[in-house]
Amino acid sequence: MKLNSLFATFVAFSATSVEVDAFQTLPPHVSTLCWQQQYSSATNENVLQRIAHDLSIPLTIRSPSQLYASSPQYDTFEGTLETSHRLADNSYLLHITAPSNNDSESILPYKPGHVIALEIKADTETPGQNPYDRTEKTLKDLENNDGWLRAPFTITRSTKDSFDILIKVVGDKSYTLAHAPENTPIRFGGKFKVPIEDGIVESMQKAKENGGSIDKIVMISTGVGVGPCIGAVENMLSNQLEDDDPAENLERFRFLYLSKEQANAEVEFPKVELLGLYRENEDVVYGTYLTALKEKFARKFDWQSILSNYQGRLSSTENMMSYYLCSKGTDFRGALENTHYHLIGNGSMVNEFREGLQKAGVSKDRITEEIYFDHTAKPREEVVDRIAKAMNQE
Ligand SMILES: Cc1cc2nc3c(=O)[nH]c(=O)nc-3n(C[C@H](O)[C@H](O)[C@H](O)COP(=O)(O)OP(=O)(O)OC[C@H]3O[C@@H](n4cnc5c(N)ncnc54)[C@H](O)[C@@H]3O)c2cc1C
Repeated sequence: MKLNSLFATFVAFSATSVEVDAFQTLPPHVSTLCWQQQYSSATNENVLQRIAHDLSIPLTIRSPSQLYASSPQYDTFEGTLETSHRLADNSYLLHITAPSNNDSESILPYKPGHVIALEIKADTETPGQNPYDRTEKTLKDLENNDGWLRAPFTITRSTKDSFDILIKVVGDKSYTLAHAPENTPIRFGGKFKVPIEDGIVESMQKAKENGGSIDKIVMISTGVGVGPCIGAVENMLSNQLEDDDPAENLERFRFLYLSKEQANAEVEFPKVELLGLYRENEDVVYGTYLTALKEKFARKFDWQSILSNYQGRLSSTENMMSYYLCSKGTDFRGALENTHYHLIGNGSMVNEFREGLQKAGVSKDRITEEIYFDHTAKPREEVVDRIAKAMNQE
């Protein structure tokens, strides 16, 4: 069996809870895609056994962990929550390292946009300090998980032995993670969803196949959803760095140098415009850093924050949308036809912009998304119409 057809079989049947050690011997994109299939709970060990046999590779089936009933399964790896830095109001950057003696090389590095399960022992922070009540759902999950709290989070950036996650403190679990002492043991696992860059590369390939191109990338985030966008932008910009860039930049752009070795060097990404939606100025994450990136890579990167408490929501007026989404770019048609959109954050923003952009005529191939909470928020019809109208202004 050839790898391509084999790969198709993996994608079709790897909807399974088992991890196959042999994934390490396959090209990285195969392994990644296999992990992405883990959202399904169907198990088909026989198929995996047959494929492993055809490939003459060893197969190890491990017992997996499960986040909640009917949610994705994953193996857990040990790590250390080295630091939690407060970057803005209630927003913390977790820096986690994973020693190479615990198999973590089979799962690291992650890419910005991968979703993982992160676990921490309950009551790790100073007892009595946590102001949040423990919910029924969390209490039940603690019983099933040996006293470890767990929740899904999205990778901001990663190296082969560490990763960063930007979190918002909204309750018991996020508070415990944000306020854990330095060097707290944690557990992590899973490698779910399509990383941001991979989604964009796929969109660029599809556009090319159809005789078109992607000339601009627009990322719209709410709150801490900006984290994975920043990681993806760092990776995309790292291709632009010259080896002899002045040392001064090494500190300022240290993440770019970290990501350079992992970046998809052969892909020339178009310009990225990042719109970070926040309530207040105090919520803005990495403002100074993003402005420094914008100054250094003006041809390739631009960003703006929009503060809803002062300016209103991005979707609240046609004028605001046409200003931020259209007038700075090529032209209105370009925004509809040659732009890739990545939407990340709360469900109401993501659902309304997805619907509005599609209604305006943006192909769904050119929209990727990640929802953190409020998944079922119903898009308001008038907002969807307003987005569509703004995008179609002549
Ligand atoms: C696919 C996926 C990826 C995620 N990635 C991230 C991430 O990278 N960073 C991150 O901070 N969170 C992320 N989340 C959300 C994260 O899982 C929750 O913040 C966490 O489970 C909250 O647990 P808790 O015990 O602190 O609060 P809970 O008591 O479980 O929740 C309290 C309330 O906060 C709301 N809420 C959850 N997340 C947010 C938020 N970001 N902003 C405002 N309100 C929120 C919930 O809907 C709930 O009403 C992600 C969720 C999903 C499904």
